[in-house]
Amino acid sequence: MKKIVLAAVNAKYVHSNPGVYSLCAYALQCNPGADIETLSFTINRSADQIIEEIVLANPDLIGFSCYIWNITLIRQITVTLHAILPDTQIWLGGPEVSYCAQEMLKSLPVTGVMTGEGEITFATLVREFLLGEAGDYKRVRGIVTRDFATEEAELIVMDDLPFFYRDFPKEQFDHKILYYETSRGCPYMCAYCLSSIEKQLRFKSLGKVYEELQFFLERRVKQVKFVDRTFNCDPDHALAIWKYLKEHDNGVTNFHFEIAAETLRDDALELIGTMRPGLLRLEIGVQSTDPGTLKKIHRQMDLVKCRRVVETLLQNGNVILHLDLIAGLPGEGYERFVQSFNDVFLMHPHELQLGFLKVLKGTSIEQTAVEAGIVYEQEPPYEVLFTKDIRYEELRRLKAVEEMLEIYYNSGQFARSIAYLLRFFPTPYAMFEALSVYYREKGYQIIQSSRLKRYEILLAFFEEKVEKDSTRMREYLVYDLYARENLKKRPKFAGEEAKEAADYYRGNRQLMFDTHVEKLLGPDGKKRLYLFDYRDRDPVTGNAVISDITEEV
Ligand code: SF4
Repeated sequence: MKKIVLAAVNAKYVHSNPGVYSLCAYALQCNPGADIETLSFTINRSADQIIEEIVLANPDLIGFSCYIWNITLIRQITVTLHAILPDTQIWLGGPEVSYCAQEMLKSLPVTGVMTGEGEITFATLVREFLLGEAGDYKRVRGIVTRDFATEEAELIVMDDLPFFYRDFPKEQFDHKILYYETSRGCPYMCAYCLSSIEKQLRFKSLGKVYEELQFFLERRVKQVKFVDRTFNCDPDHALAIWKYLKEHDNGVTNFHFEIAAETLRDDALELIGTMRPGLLRLEIGVQSTDPGTLKKIHRQMDLVKCRRVVETLLQNGNVILHLDLIAGLPGEGYERFVQSFNDVFLMHPHELQLGFLKVLKGTSIEQTAVEAGIVYEQEPPYEVLFTKDIRYEELRRLKAVEEMLEIYYNSGQFARSIAYLLRFFPTPYAMFEALSVYYREKGYQIIQSSRLKRYEILLAFFEEKVEKDSTRMREYLVYDLYARENLKKRPKFAGEEAKEAADYYRGNRQLMFDTHVEKLLGPDGKKRLYLFDYRDRDPVTGNAVISDITEEV
């Protein structure tokens, strides 16, 4: 029996690649008994280690699923793999090769490239491959080889997709984010996005979705990330699924969705407001608040509605909200981007992602990049270097701000300290920028600084650049630190331990182990005793439950 391997090279261990599992399950459904195996790696593994594992699997045909984050490594792997296994067919598929198949065939020793959606193409490729001499790849739709290219395969009916997680071993669920889809395609036309090309929107029937969701719920998996491009583009479909999740909540699993704020209806907002805190994570791409830029990228965005939706979601306090911005978009210069940053930051999301434009092959922005004056990296991730609106140096300043934002805001570890610090700066951007300049001046390395060191740096920054009297700032830092972590060793800047703690515990060792007592300034400016209880954390912020115990001691 000929052996077929599908290889996924993921960006992180916690990621799983639904693409290869779906391809494998569908190919097995169409070719029962075929010997198809999936192998998963991460980009942190060396090419040598990955090659060794593949060679040991001894495939006659191997398929790689290619994305922006793994293509450089896969290029390296295919060259060496072909030298070791010259008779093994190597096929590439995925968004990173679909729009440049000829270029891949010219530069790499691969047999062919599968373009477009993979399931039907791969299943027919397997069929023809297993037929041996009698097989004919010309019957496979959606492939490009050195000799010929076939027309695109038809799009799969969503209900025909097998639910591949059913065959997963239990340990594959642990500590992994599981990706799930209920629709393919997107009705929007954002110029930088590959999903805007695939216009045919298709949905799984709700009955099938419920049955599959029930599987995740019964196994109590930690997180399910919906990969539907705009989950609520059909508001009724979205509402029905959210209702199901609310009614069948297992108290453990959380679900992540990418949504459009302007199509989020009031009935959905109302329903979301009644859900278990932490059940949903919602991601909304704002990208820019400049109407001219939004128009240039063909992005529909009603900022007034977006603000209202964000405000309502935050008022309810039960959803983790993530907003996105993209720097380097056409028509947006540095100053205007700073305004977008401040506008979105002041919506107070739990996380704000400052991303940078990537000019992906096949997108409309790629075709108009020269005319729009967008200069970008010629190798993955094809990130913008400068445009006619924003200089290289300005984008580097934004990069430094993004690092500060990740550490001091998106981590959620400095909530009170940052809120206090913001009072001393005219805008949020000004604060993060000043912090990034301080990091550079001091030569601090982002990756080298430990979590505790980051608190110390923030304190030093405050004392050197903001105010000498850091009494309040210390209080907030201590609060933030203990809100997240039951530290074994007390940091120096926290000063003396509260003497009253011993009275409170009265020798209760278990309570001492599970909690922490700290004396901090209360809202009235007087010192109060606070208990940080780590047995029960806030599902939205991840913080310990904190209570005022002054009267109990
Ligand atoms: S960015 Fe989002 S909304 Fe726009 S085309 Fe892509 S998936 Fe659709």
